[in-house]
Amino acid sequence: MGKDTGFLEFEKESPPLRPVDERVRDFKEYETFFPAEDLQKQAGRCMDCGVPFCHMGCPLGNMIPDWNDLVYRGHWKEALASLHSTNNFPEFTGRICPAPCEDDCVLNEHYTLDAVEKQQKVNVVTIEEIEKHIAERGWSEGWIRPLPPKKLTDRQIAIVGSGPAGLAAAQQLRRAGHAVTVFEKDDRIGGLLVYGIPDFKLEKNIVSRRVDQLRAEGVEFRTGVNVGVDYSVEELRISFDAILLATGAQHTRKLLVDGSELEGVHYAMDYLPQRNREVAGDLIPEEQRIEPGRKKTVILGGGFTAADCLGNLNRQGVDPRVHQFELVNMVPRPTPVHQEANPDCRANILTESISGDSLGRVKALQAVNVEWKVETSGKSASRQVTMQRVPGSEFSVPADLILLAMGFLGPKVEGLLEGLGVELNVRGADKTSSPEQLIKMLKNAQPMFDVYADDNFMTSEEGVFVAGDANRGASIVVWAIWEGREAARCIDKYLMGTSSLPTTPQAEVLI
Ligand SMILES: Cc1cc2nc3c(=O)[nH]c(=O)nc-3n(C[C@H](O)[C@H](O)[C@H](O)COP(=O)(O)OP(=O)(O)OC[C@H]3O[C@@H](n4cnc5c(N)ncnc54)[C@H](O)[C@@H]3O)c2cc1C
Ligand code: SF4
Repeated sequence: MGKDTGFLEFEKESPPLRPVDERVRDFKEYETFFPAEDLQKQAGRCMDCGVPFCHMGCPLGNMIPDWNDLVYRGHWKEALASLHSTNNFPEFTGRICPAPCEDDCVLNEHYTLDAVEKQQKVNVVTIEEIEKHIAERGWSEGWIRPLPPKKLTDRQIAIVGSGPAGLAAAQQLRRAGHAVTVFEKDDRIGGLLVYGIPDFKLEKNIVSRRVDQLRAEGVEFRTGVNVGVDYSVEELRISFDAILLATGAQHTRKLLVDGSELEGVHYAMDYLPQRNREVAGDLIPEEQRIEPGRKKTVILGGGFTAADCLGNLNRQGVDPRVHQFELVNMVPRPTPVHQEANPDCRANILTESISGDSLGRVKALQAVNVEWKVETSGKSASRQVTMQRVPGSEFSVPADLILLAMGFLGPKVEGLLEGLGVELNVRGADKTSSPEQLIKMLKNAQPMFDVYADDNFMTSEEGVFVAGDANRGASIVVWAIWEGREAARCIDKYLMGTSSLPTTPQAEVLI
């Protein structure tokens, strides 16, 4: 334990965010860094709990009290080694993880009801901050270097998708000595790290320096290849001993109301990637540009994607009174981008229709307040959640631009998954449905789904594995890294009969 009385002596502190009027003028990260001494004090707040709940809250099983102690004592290089033993990319999670570890930190026990409602983390050890500082110290000191395998095997592995799951798996499998090829249909490597998450949360040089490390370790990257379309499933099967599907879950939930096809209504995932491309210096063809100007804007959704739209809009100088409506009973979690603009954020709002002008352009959004009721029935006390409109609460807001950020249902099925014929788990579907029936169902309705996998991450097809959002449904980066690492170990064992790659107990099992 760093300092036995640290948690009594030192207040919880984080480095200040960049001032709002400065940060909305650029796309650089809004977070800043602490001097080493200040961060060491924060690490010294850790109580090294007998039962470190933080450790259980982290899907990766990060050894949090260990590296808090090492940082407090100034042993940064050892702290980095501890961090890397469970997490390939701490500089990503140190920036953008919602930090379930901090929710579970024992110092967070001094909850007030008000704080819980506002989802504030009271007094906790600033674990994520400490993680980021350890990783950045590692990069600036030159401690993070390529670690190519000492011995090579003759096994060939294809990884489809270069998001955090694919990258974590690629690094683990390469370090186990295999020949690893990562296929990516986009022109840059990184998945949602580069074409979803904006630069103000995660600058892209942070991703590319890791990709360079993987490349130097011997991972081969092939961009611009949509596997299942540009590269056939048959060729994939013949050329590789094992295949990992790390294709993400980017099949978006649609808005099924009148007017959703009007000009000016866009999916967030049409808007966000083009913002990131522009920040990277790419030119977006005029006819594809989604230009907010001073338009009256409504964002539908309350998660990361919606907040990222808002942050981009703030930086593009839109009408400051953006509306953000969420259907479920949860006011969108306040983020730094909400402080920048003070949007009109409301929960329990159901969009009923969108109206347009005579030229087919969106003009207004019509909505109504709803109430959610939970009813328990039957012997098994099964819970039924119902939504009811609140009569008389109908309202309309003017809108020239509507961004739909209502979540993701599962992986894209057309092409690769269809071609491989892997089984899918479709929520609410009859277990006996054939793959053809399931695909038909997905085309006609909106259930959530993922690729079926057994406990070893293997799909219904021999030698084909799945990890990340494609396996667990749309989730967060830390889970994608965990999935990539675990799937890598299972692939290594499948190919070699045994594996010395590390395993992490899944947090959910421990709790
Ligand atoms: C806008 C947005 C913001 C987010 N912000 C956060 C955040 O702040 N913190 C957080 O923890 N999580 C965040 N998330 C969630 C997080 O990004 C995902 O959980 C994570 O990226 C999933 O990783 P993955 O590797 O499974 O898939 P992805 O990152 O989705 O990568 C999948 C890759 O596979 C490629 N691919 C798919 N099919 C093929 C094919 N047939 N051939 C070749 N390539 C293919 C895709 O092009 C893509 O690059 C955010 C998500 C979104 C959409
Ligand atoms: S729960 Fe909090 S105080 Fe306890 S070991 Fe983890 S970080 Fe330290």
